Amino acid sequence: MHWVDVYAEELLGRGKKHFVESGTSISGEPHLGSAEDLIISDGIAKAIIEKGGECKTIWAMDDLDGLRKIPKQLPKEFEQYLGQPAFKLPCPDGCCSSFAEHFTRPFLENLARVDVKPEPVSVAKMYQDGKYDNVVRIALDRAAEITAIIKEVSGSERGDDWLPFFPICENCGRILTTQAYAWDGQKVSYRCKGGIAGKNFIPGCGHEGAVGIREGKLPWRVEWASRWSHLGVTFEPMGKDLMASGGTYETGKAICERIYNSPAPLAVPYEWIVIEGGKRLGKSAGRILTIGELVDIATPEIARYFFFRSKPTSHKDIDFGLGIIKLAEEYEMSERTYFGQDTGIPEKELEDVRRNYTMSQISGIPERLSQVSYSHLISTVQVSKDWNHILEKLARTDDLSGMTAEEERRLKVKVEAVKTWLATHAPEDMVFQLQQEPPNLPLTEFEKLQLTKLSFKLCQANLNWTAENIHNAIYDVSVELKLKKSSEIFGLIYKIFLNKNRGPRLGYLLASLDRDFVVERVQHFAN
Ligand SMILES: [Zn+2]
Ligand SMILES: [Zn+2]
Repeated sequence: MHWVDVYAEELLGRGKKHFVESGTSISGEPHLGSAEDLIISDGIAKAIIEKGGECKTIWAMDDLDGLRKIPKQLPKEFEQYLGQPAFKLPCPDGCCSSFAEHFTRPFLENLARVDVKPEPVSVAKMYQDGKYDNVVRIALDRAAEITAIIKEVSGSERGDDWLPFFPICENCGRILTTQAYAWDGQKVSYRCKGGIAGKNFIPGCGHEGAVGIREGKLPWRVEWASRWSHLGVTFEPMGKDLMASGGTYETGKAICERIYNSPAPLAVPYEWIVIEGGKRLGKSAGRILTIGELVDIATPEIARYFFFRSKPTSHKDIDFGLGIIKLAEEYEMSERTYFGQDTGIPEKELEDVRRNYTMSQISGIPERLSQVSYSHLISTVQVSKDWNHILEKLARTDDLSGMTAEEERRLKVKVEAVKTWLATHAPEDMVFQLQQEPPNLPLTEFEKLQLTKLSFKLCQANLNWTAENIHNAIYDVSVELKLKKSSEIFGLIYKIFLNKNRGPRLGYLLASLDRDFVVERVQHFAN
């Protein structure tokens, strides 16, 4: 069974109604890892609903969390806001009503492109509206028990007078710098002493005061547990580091059960994504990669596929360079498998592969197979002037007859994705300029012989002009002439068409070109 179904069935065994939560601190535009959390939630939620259950998804924007460091994309003036909760900060570009809106809006818009539409909830607003009064009061009243639970489960010590509450300093507006020391049932007394955020110490202003329970927040572990209880969360994806023995999840679970008398949600651990490629854009250090960028270069379906193709806990890396081609090819294979083609996938894996495909669909599951591969488009878009030209070229090698409006829409999206990839993350090898005139190349007699043989094969009237046939013809020449490596002849052909040693898949490249043009060019260099 596919992992989304395993989780869905386990949850349905516990009850019919479900509630999944994800939370993200707002300190800049949320990166791809934050999207991972929500996409996993979405897959399981959809599986629950398909099987007759109900599931609501919320995304808690942790905008009460203090700003711990200044992300690179923020102006330097933001240093004055270090330690202040995100909801208080202005939009860095002056275009939105707040800092949080500036970063969460594009994130949510891009998630919607992959059909992930959680209900966003501002944590700051939950506190300010009094929805959290009850859970905060319980935490403060039972601070000593919480201190004991944290010590028992995680081993970390809090002082005897520790209170699970961070007031927002009335004087300097910071939340990371305050320490609460007394609770009288109405107000929390605190000192603004300074606090540690990562490697930095953020100095406090020295103010001493007392605030009501809507003017601050619970510490993270307690907050998490109280939120599960308050919202009735039944499952939650989390980075697997949070699930270590004595870690945040175990502590939260104990607090949820013993202080709030609620069952803790089922944890869905996942592995963090490692981003490897994207070297061209990735050079500017500190850039984050977002779900929007992945969708832009991979299409929404292929972007979704990335998250469902393997279990959440399996090693996950993504390469925005050549890796995108591999990812697209794997997706395309799952698509052909879904439509019943024999792709060589072993019988026992077929169900999962088909499920990977259906989980990746956004506007319904297509009724029939209509596929032009990403690799093919890499060549086609680079030798075409416009959309009509692309269609004209593809029609030579692919059956586009009877293409529906929806199929055409999907193809257009894929073409745009390939163009964006070529302009941003594609390695230089993949970007080419077709040489309209034969380049000036001194060839050896043996190289000329290879091209002579190839021209005979390409001229055969019964050769269908497909990428596969062209690839095979080239390969056959290398075998017949006993080349040490078949890459020799491939390199030679890149040179005569692109004046480069490498390029995108040669079969697709030549298939995208006019047959006469190809034969003429090969013959020009033959002897
Ligand atoms: Zn803005
Ligand atoms: Zn202060």
